[in-house]
Amino acid sequence: MSPAILFATNSPTYSTTLMNLCRELYPQVEAFLPGDEGAERAQLAACWAPDPALLKHYPNIQLIHSVAAGVDHIGTDLLSSGVPICRVVDDGQKVGMFEYILCGVLRVQRNFDKAAMEQASQHWQRYPMRKRADMRIGVLGLGELGGYAASQLAEFGYCVSGWARTEKSLAGVRCYNGIDGLQKLLNQSDILVNMLPLNGQTKGILNADLLSQLPEGAYLINCGRGAHLVENDLIEAVNSQHLRGALLDVFSVEPLPSSDPLWTTKDIFITPHIASDASKPEIIHQLVRNAIKLSTGEALNNQINPMLGY
Ligand code: NDP
Repeated sequence: MSPAILFATNSPTYSTTLMNLCRELYPQVEAFLPGDEGAERAQLAACWAPDPALLKHYPNIQLIHSVAAGVDHIGTDLLSSGVPICRVVDDGQKVGMFEYILCGVLRVQRNFDKAAMEQASQHWQRYPMRKRADMRIGVLGLGELGGYAASQLAEFGYCVSGWARTEKSLAGVRCYNGIDGLQKLLNQSDILVNMLPLNGQTKGILNADLLSQLPEGAYLINCGRGAHLVENDLIEAVNSQHLRGALLDVFSVEPLPSSDPLWTTKDIFITPHIASDASKPEIIHQLVRNAIKLSTGEALNNQINPMLGY
């Protein structure tokens, strides 16, 4: 039986784009949209925020594959359905994420954030230059993306710490785990970068209590998920000048509604979920490779542990 993939993201346009690319790159693979004739043959569902009732309509689905690095959008019903879940892990995406984080770090280190504010009032102010080795960066999450970014920042000469669930050893990175480890990392982070996956343990982790453990004038970069952050706690920490500011790429509701106070909070810089993604051809290659592995019974690539949620 030839591999068959159902493209079931929450955007019909995006699903169609991926399906057409799959047909172009792999004519031997059957590619469907929900409702297409023959779609019930699909063994793999390629998903972003799929309909939780998906499996009921397509009982032949044996693998749910995120079209991204994260899997939280798949939802608890499907994550706990017992069907294997895989995700995309891509070297190009790691580089892109590192570049995004480096932009945020340099913006603070070289005071571009202050210059942007002061330009508005035509205020000329020079600040002392800070060396990379004097910038203490803490990275929450040392997985594929966070671990790569932490290592690259360390190689670049920054003073880097990282925090994960389990013990880690990364060249040039002081690694912590556990609650005590988190506190140590926070106390010594001028810039805190969130690269955690969203799950029951990490939802709301960027809250008033955590932010209060950062040094005065620290800066937050959130590239994980919007629901990691308690928005009002951040706004309070920035308005009270405990924090210098924040660079936010992800939000609980996307697109960020125009009424959201984050848009207008001074010193909060917003980007529209652009930190990094895998290219569409790479996503298709990884989906097809796993569809073939599924049909031959080989171990799947980048399978997540549904109990951990990542
Ligand atoms: P991984 O699954 O490879 O790594 C997750 C890391 O987080 C691991 O080091 C893990 O620890 C750690 N972790 C998980 N739970 C906890 C916890 N409770 N306490 C402490 N540490 C924990 O994920 P990736 O690096 O591939 O991606 C991370 C997230 O980045 C994605 O889930 C997604 O939400 C986000 N993302 C954002 C993008 C954007 O454009 N803004 C693009 C792509 C991803 P351990 O290693 O010990 O298990």
